[in-house]
Amino acid sequence: MNLSGKNILVYGLGLSGFAASKLLAAQGARVTAVDVKPEAALKSDLGILRSLGVEVHTGQNSIKRLNGIELLIVSPGIPLEHPLISIAQKGGIQVVGELELASQFCQAPVIGVTGTNGKSTTCALIGAILDSAGIANKVAGNIGLPLSSVVPLSAGVAVVEVSSYQLETIETFKPHIAVWMNLSADHLSRHSTIEAYAAAKSRIFKLQTSDDVKVYNAEDPQVMKFAAEGQGRPLPFGFNIKSGVFLRNERIFYDWEGQSGEILPADEISIKGRHNLQNSLAASAAALAYGVDVPAIREALMKFPGLEHRQEFVTRKNGVAFINDSKSTNVDSGLKALETIEPPIILIAGGRGKGESFLPAEKLIRRNVKLLITLGETAEQLSRELSDAVETMYAKDLQEAVETAWGNSLPGDNILLSPMCASFDMFEDFEQRGRIFKSICREITDGVEEDK
Ligand code: ADP
Repeated sequence: MNLSGKNILVYGLGLSGFAASKLLAAQGARVTAVDVKPEAALKSDLGILRSLGVEVHTGQNSIKRLNGIELLIVSPGIPLEHPLISIAQKGGIQVVGELELASQFCQAPVIGVTGTNGKSTTCALIGAILDSAGIANKVAGNIGLPLSSVVPLSAGVAVVEVSSYQLETIETFKPHIAVWMNLSADHLSRHSTIEAYAAAKSRIFKLQTSDDVKVYNAEDPQVMKFAAEGQGRPLPFGFNIKSGVFLRNERIFYDWEGQSGEILPADEISIKGRHNLQNSLAASAAALAYGVDVPAIREALMKFPGLEHRQEFVTRKNGVAFINDSKSTNVDSGLKALETIEPPIILIAGGRGKGESFLPAEKLIRRNVKLLITLGETAEQLSRELSDAVETMYAKDLQEAVETAWGNSLPGDNILLSPMCASFDMFEDFEQRGRIFKSICREITDGVEEDK
């Protein structure tokens, strides 16, 4: 793609808009980058862009005109219904997302991973498997390192986490191996129906040819509705299936395209819980599809330490453990924490809702949670929907929530932050929420760390 001298507008200056602007400037394009937020509210160092010759405008009315613009790059946070996008399209200006742009500079084969939950863990796991096989790789995309910042890339493998928002704006992006983890209600405030959300996800398979492989969760009904998309060779994974990558007597097996064998017993996998077993099946399938040897897969599954903010053990004092699951931003991920963490649980939940009901969590909460501490914009909804199932207390902030949890705990309890909501009502992002939680926990326990 020759962008030299092209007039390009980048709309949205979060991580991906910033990386896209840098990539475009390096390709010799004439870049204007805008964001409606004031400069002080943006995390990106805009000085770097200016020094590269990018024209930066921030704040309300930052977009004055589209005259002369030949290409509009939109950040994943911008909905497709945004007026600027329709104005551009009416004016014949091409509109593409950051991922689409970056993928055009990626000659390395791509393993792309999408789904509602488990994307980051599975991508990191695939990266770890490739590492253990000695295959150079970059793990990028929605995981926090935009693909734009690792391209041009011509050697090794790009493992790319892809969100439904990013898939809405792809045109040519086609992973050599595409993985679709699962689909549950999330982002319904942006995708009006679960069908629209599923249709966006299914775009990951659409352009694949018979040289490519589609890895999919054969036990997820929403995923299965779209499993026939594209021409990629199917490689299913699941707990109760008999081909692809699956469980038999609690051991992971594979049987695909004439090759079969055992990978390892499930209880030897380092990360715990059925959800992580699902992630391990998916990552093993992707690795097998790429031709990685079984011993390398086994070694990585036994060693992978898990990611920060995903059911992460923080500390333990007086027999009470603190667990940080700040990345739980929807009800399904909360369910996985409630299934995995030992009861009795003191659960801290709440934040910015996404139009989901918390009622699917009622049964597990009734069974495993002794106290629910509600927080943030959904505190009222949580208590309305769940106070019949469990004692509920309100906390005005995270500090008060952790203090209340600690004050009500007994030896053997697990204090779990699994918000089931986005963080943006009280925090910059889920990482900040998790870091603050961990520092409050450590303060309360005087930094004394006992064994896991
Ligand atoms: P994503 O990148 O899709 O958000 P993560 O791996 O970051 O996925 O995990 C996000 C949250 O979902 C965490 O709370 C984690 O414990 C939970 N989770 C991880 N894997 C799965 C899965 N396969 N199904 C449901 N929840 C999961």
